[in-house]
Amino acid sequence: ASFTIGFIGLGNMGAPMAHNLAQAGHKVQGYDTAGTTAEGVSVAQSADSACAEADFVITMLPNGAILRSVAAQVLPAMKQGATLIDCSTVDVDSARDVGAQAAEMGLGFVDAPVSGGIGGAAAGTLTFMTGGTDAAFAAAQPLFDIMGQKAVHCGAAGSGQAAKICNNMILGATMIATCEAFALADKLGLDRQKMFDVVSTSSGYSWSMNAYCPAPGVGPQSPADNDYKPGFAAELMLKDLGLSQQAAQAVDADTPMGALAHALYAEFVEVEDGKGRDFSAMLPRLAARSRS
Ligand code: NAD
Repeated sequence: ASFTIGFIGLGNMGAPMAHNLAQAGHKVQGYDTAGTTAEGVSVAQSADSACAEADFVITMLPNGAILRSVAAQVLPAMKQGATLIDCSTVDVDSARDVGAQAAEMGLGFVDAPVSGGIGGAAAGTLTFMTGGTDAAFAAAQPLFDIMGQKAVHCGAAGSGQAAKICNNMILGATMIATCEAFALADKLGLDRQKMFDVVSTSSGYSWSMNAYCPAPGVGPQSPADNDYKPGFAAELMLKDLGLSQQAAQAVDADTPMGALAHALYAEFVEVEDGKGRDFSAMLPRLAARSRS
């Protein structure tokens, strides 16, 4: 089937995702306040005009407040039975609230944050972690298949965001733990390659060590080998750790490692030189500090 799709937010992630949908034969109308566009996507004059005829509306926006304001504009303009798919990373409460508003208006909703970054968006190999009704998920599945390689249905609306921030809280904490272990190993005179050889095949292994090693010249190619150009920028990790702390406070979950990871990335991004660097640049930061 060929669908009409409204795509709101044609930034670093949204533009290649919209392009892939157009490439697959769907009619994609896009809108972005910055005036950006994407190949094969026709530009609408407003968010609601991009969505009026749409079978699906996809949003790829910076945060929950912007999602709420775009939803307030777009949901009333959508036709009955259409589905809103929010692929942004936002707070769980915003996802749940927008999902409830959509349901009240007879519209489908799926929260579907992604992992895979800009490379995955361009290649159509994103992973979607999703929340919503079975019917809304089933309806959206053909679009996930175009934009990504895997979509996991995690539960009701908001569950996709919950899965995303739990995953990234683990990622932030394991990256810092891996980096501080390298900084300690340096001081103990342990060769970084030997450290990798041992840990990557021992119980300290993780994605941060094995797939995205923060030490240059060690392990598979990673941003460390490219002067810590992102990759996954430290400020995006900070955003996700902020969302996991916000959620933890809201439900009174005890997340001390997540809280510390959040504080360390906040200092790195806001006080030090971390902004615009890959999140694995925590290694040179910790190594430099422990020298003084
Ligand atoms: P981006 O800043 O490049 O894109 C966001 C776009 O939204 C911008 O082009 C902006 O002009 C537009 N926008 C803002 N307000 C708008 C409005 N009211 N109406 C229409 N458009 C509006 O960000 P990005 O890197 O594309 O990330 C988008 C989302 O995906 C974020 O929630 C981010 O956390 C998440 N994400 C990003 C990555 C990544 O590697 N970049 C990876 C996973 C998830």
